[in-house]
Amino acid sequence: QAKSHGRNSSRFFDPCMQAAAEHQAMLELAMREGLLARQFVLFCQPQFDTRGRLVGAEVLVRWYRSNGEILSPDEFIGLAESSGLIVPLGQYVLEEACHALARWQDDHSLRELELAVNVSVRQLRSANFTEKVADILLETGARASKLCLELTESVFAENVAETVERMDELCGHGVQFSLDDFGTGYSSLSYLKRFPLTALKIDRAFVHDVHVNPDAVPIVKAIIALARSLKLEIVAEGVEHEAQRNFLIDSGCNTLQGYLLGKPMPISEFEQMYSSGCVGHA
Ligand code: C2E
Ligand code: MG
Ligand code: MG
Ligand code: MG
Repeated sequence: QAKSHGRNSSRFFDPCMQAAAEHQAMLELAMREGLLARQFVLFCQPQFDTRGRLVGAEVLVRWYRSNGEILSPDEFIGLAESSGLIVPLGQYVLEEACHALARWQDDHSLRELELAVNVSVRQLRSANFTEKVADILLETGARASKLCLELTESVFAENVAETVERMDELCGHGVQFSLDDFGTGYSSLSYLKRFPLTALKIDRAFVHDVHVNPDAVPIVKAIIALARSLKLEIVAEGVEHEAQRNFLIDSGCNTLQGYLLGKPMPISEFEQMYSSGCVGHA
């Protein structure tokens, strides 16, 4: 009796689990408030072609909490997904990103850049997503062809036919898609060719030791060969060392992104750093 009491009581009341649940609930509430208070800030990380020319950027969101903490997406995107807040948060990020694209059109150095925005599967499948994207493009004046939506391999998990249909609608508006973090998820290779993609992003986990670990080389080469046979561009993320960069260029990557070339920075800083003149701020 004593034994069953001691061991099973945790099924009914676990102070640790309760504390965690309370923490999540508080964070969710803070996120709701943070959205209204515009505490979410868009950062931008530059992307370069193999000759070192700036060709685009990826938007990465940060949360500047009222308590002074700055949270990275890994600390709140999961909760945003499970609570559904990813839909309004993602909408906000898309709006701000398209405002940036529209501003860039007036700048000689920025006007041809593509801007990549991470979109969660839940957001992609949310009601009227295509119409919302079309509205944002119309309202901001951003060119659809410069907007690239990054999806992860979780799009392969279920409802493939519906997802492809929605992506086709968006492609109809001129938006592009890339597959993020390739190789870390559950890509079914047979599905890969059904999705209207223009690029594959090799996850930084594979880039990480490619210059020092011979075992990492065949995987990266295989991903690149696969992408090429599907006529997809290849973007490498997490490039931190010259040797990685050289290897990736020699292996046929088209676009490079990583701390070696540029860290994520607030959009205003990105504009100052890379614009030819003054970018008008809305
Ligand atoms: P991701 O899309 O794969 O973004 C790349 C991550 O790698 C970013 O982390 C970036 O800061 C980091 N990174 C870039 N270069 C290097 C490098 O050279 N070395 C290392 N070690 N890391 C590098 P971050 O900003 O923490 O974002 C993490 C993830 O959060 C992103 O991964 C993306 O999946 C998600 N995320 C970010 N912003 C959004 C958003 O607006 N919406 C959604 N749904 N997800 C987002
Ligand atoms: Mg990404
Ligand atoms: Mg990525
Ligand atoms: Mg990644």
